[in-house]
Amino acid sequence: MNRQPTPELPPHAPDLHHAHAQTPAQLFALLTSGEAGLSAGEAQRRRILWGENHLPTSAPTPAWLRWTRQLHNLFIYVLLTSALISAFIQHWVDAGVILAVVIINATIGFVQEGKAEAALRSILRLSKSQCLVLRGGKTFTLDSQLLVPGDVVLLQAGDRVPADMRLIYCKELRCDEAMLTGESQAADKFVAVIPVETTLAERANMAYMGTMVTAGTAHGLVTQTGNHTQIGMINQLVQQVSLPDTPLQRQLAQLARQLTAVILLATAATMAFGMFVRDYTLAAMFQGAIGIAVAAIPEGLPAIVTISLALGVERMARKHALVRRLPAVEVLGAVDVICSDKTGTLTANAMTARLLVTSNARYSISGEGYEPAGDIQHHHGRLPTDDELTQVTTACNIALSCNDANVTEEDGDWVIHGDPTEAALHVLALKHGLDAADHARARPRLDTLPFETEKRYMASLHQTPDGTREMAIKGAPDQLLRLCHQQWGPQGLEPINKAYWETELQHLASQGMRVLALANKPVTDTAPRLHHDQVAAGELVMVALVGISDPPRAEAIAAIAQCQQAGIRVLMITGDNPLTAAAIGRELGLKADRVVTGAELDQVPPQALPALAENVSIFARTSPANKLQLVQALQSRHHTLAMTGDGVNDAPALRQADIGVAMGLKGTDAARDAAAFVLTDDNFATIVGAVAEGRTIYDNIVKSIVFILPTSLAEASVILLAILFGWLLPITPAQILWVNMITAVTLTLALAFERPEANLMQRPPRPRQQGFLTSRLLYRVLLVGGIGAATIFMLFRWQLQHTDNIDLARCMAVNALVCFEAFYLLAARSLHDAIWHKRYWSGSAPALLSIALVAIMQLIFTYWPLSQQLFSLAPLAASDWLILMLATSPILLLVELEKALARRIQTHRNTEQAIAHVNL
Ligand code: ATP
Repeated sequence: MNRQPTPELPPHAPDLHHAHAQTPAQLFALLTSGEAGLSAGEAQRRRILWGENHLPTSAPTPAWLRWTRQLHNLFIYVLLTSALISAFIQHWVDAGVILAVVIINATIGFVQEGKAEAALRSILRLSKSQCLVLRGGKTFTLDSQLLVPGDVVLLQAGDRVPADMRLIYCKELRCDEAMLTGESQAADKFVAVIPVETTLAERANMAYMGTMVTAGTAHGLVTQTGNHTQIGMINQLVQQVSLPDTPLQRQLAQLARQLTAVILLATAATMAFGMFVRDYTLAAMFQGAIGIAVAAIPEGLPAIVTISLALGVERMARKHALVRRLPAVEVLGAVDVICSDKTGTLTANAMTARLLVTSNARYSISGEGYEPAGDIQHHHGRLPTDDELTQVTTACNIALSCNDANVTEEDGDWVIHGDPTEAALHVLALKHGLDAADHARARPRLDTLPFETEKRYMASLHQTPDGTREMAIKGAPDQLLRLCHQQWGPQGLEPINKAYWETELQHLASQGMRVLALANKPVTDTAPRLHHDQVAAGELVMVALVGISDPPRAEAIAAIAQCQQAGIRVLMITGDNPLTAAAIGRELGLKADRVVTGAELDQVPPQALPALAENVSIFARTSPANKLQLVQALQSRHHTLAMTGDGVNDAPALRQADIGVAMGLKGTDAARDAAAFVLTDDNFATIVGAVAEGRTIYDNIVKSIVFILPTSLAEASVILLAILFGWLLPITPAQILWVNMITAVTLTLALAFERPEANLMQRPPRPRQQGFLTSRLLYRVLLVGGIGAATIFMLFRWQLQHTDNIDLARCMAVNALVCFEAFYLLAARSLHDAIWHKRYWSGSAPALLSIALVAIMQLIFTYWPLSQQLFSLAPLAASDWLILMLATSPILLLVELEKALARRIQTHRNTEQAIAHVNL
């Protein structure tokens, strides 16, 4: 690896290179910090001294090199050869214009690439990482860039370690350090001091910047930041912003190769024909050949594709979908299945505890949102007896103890800190009259087993006011009930009545509530540590069930309905209870007649999985491994799918899915790294919006291609025909390049700004393998290209016969081509919608503006003496313009007729499909 000299350390910096061989106490002394972290002022002072915590980025590529890279393109090679040949036959104007085109093209590409990169870079900045830090005894979410040595950082599964740190507290922590040590097995971590000579890969009491926490939790004391970290010193550069080729760009490159082959063949054949059959001179033949080459090449196309993609990426970022992998943008348009989790994506994640069930009674809880105002009332409307009150208090004690969230009032609003489920339980305890600070003093927490998706519970160990120890546990009822052998009744401990709790669980879950069980267990062991074995050993006491409402998001209901119209299946894959999932699924409008659980999925033979995934829309109590199984099963049926995820173990499924979607708010760094998209609002509707945006981008690129290809076809066939029939060239190479580069690009660019088509989300997804030219559009290209060539020829011949002025006739031909394009643009703005609908004209400003711009440019081109001289033109009379308009405008009508026909065929097909469906 490329070792760099260690960057400059600030003066008087303590030597922290052997932090692994020192005790936390020694390090706190060295770094003048403590378990409660630094004060805000001290952190600020150290940031100035030590600098920000980020890695060096690579030096940017010099501008001239990026510009020259634009020349590496097959079309440009053909153009440069044409320029050389033109110079060789002393056609200096042609040679000059072709060179100018090459320069303009490279510059457009250069500017666009810069813009797209800047857009991606700013998006990366938006998704920059954050960490949890302890400062002045309080926990804050902090931009990782602001960390300084001496800070105390809280790590949990899924986090990317934000700086080098010595671990001062560890709970089953494992880190994937492959990027630093090459070791693919996650390393177990602990706190104890290790010998000074221990190699980097074995320093189990350190966590290094850039590595990933795969399990457990820890507190780390930051020892090094930025350049001084191990990763900074070995010069591993932060992930570069790269613009990989997208499938569409690859399709275009292939089209370019095919076109070039056809062009070379056509020019060779034409030259042979002209020289041997028509007796043209070599110079005249070269001019013809160059004309064909420059005419057939759609010079502006690559730039337009890049612009369309860049604009789309920007639009998506504004709508809360950050693109991390560019190729995914096009794939979005082909998505036909979306697999979404439930909590927070399809539901609002606004949790309120509504019902509490003890061993003998139900209680309803009043109050809205996270405001701790409301009562806990007996279901029969009466006041709870003293015994019943004790039961409720025991439940609320667990709810408050085994909880890492809290709520605060900020500007009149109640804001939660931490997990919404836990916040709801915290509020429940406050409504019962408990005080969080008093509670923490009376029942200090000794240790915690944090919530893990796989285990589905959280446990904490407490000292009780009477001096004993107690474990408080909350989690999925099905999980905890298995481990309980007693229940907390009005008179104290009783044998458990599992049938009762099961019935109550069903009652709550079938109302769509998220249900948590609260249990406890006296602990006789004097060790201040908690282990999963202690929970798994059972003997728990069931205290209560809590039903928490988390209503579906209104926008998710609408988005699911939209998906159904757009031929996209939505699957809910949740960790929650099957009954809760079914109830919420029904409210959302999903097919909820059958719910398959993760345990059932594990029993299904692999060959039966695809059929199951096709027919069931709700999967509950699933594990991350189940998600991966489902993705693979659906992909084996050639579905293109988007899959959401947030946990560290969701990463494989996110990578496997065609589009991995990570949650920006509740997701882990590990999920974000694996995903192609990050939702900054965790909202299902945003995914559907991104799919619509993906379809629009693809449509706009197809429109550009369908617009630009007939122009090339018309130009090339005009020249080819002229050579074949021994006529004068109606348009010279230089004039063609003017049209292709200046007017065609200006007009096509408008299509990148086109609004979504009216039927955008009413039509089925595009088949993934479908090329951008369907047979219908190919016919359109041939039809429009053919009519264009005929129109140009006709006007050229007419003018030549009338005036016998070749410059004037060519001027007529070039302007005919441009007018033809302008009328065609009006129809090409939509692939389906009719021009006579009022809606068609909303959002037409870019197209109309580009036509106005081209009109001005054509007037300058036609009447400016210098341009006349350069392009060999004679000025047109007013009557000529009238004829031009009359001859070129019918194309608008013709394309509209073609669209009307296509619409009819589509409606007919839809009706047939609907009839076939009914007959089934
Ligand atoms: P989704 O997968 O749709 O986001 P989810 O949030 O319900 O749904 P998990 O987070 O895997 O899925 O939660 C699974 C179950 O674990 C929940 O149904 C609940 O019973 C329990 N649970 C959730 N959060 C906690 C928590 N903080 N502490 C204890 N138990 C929890």
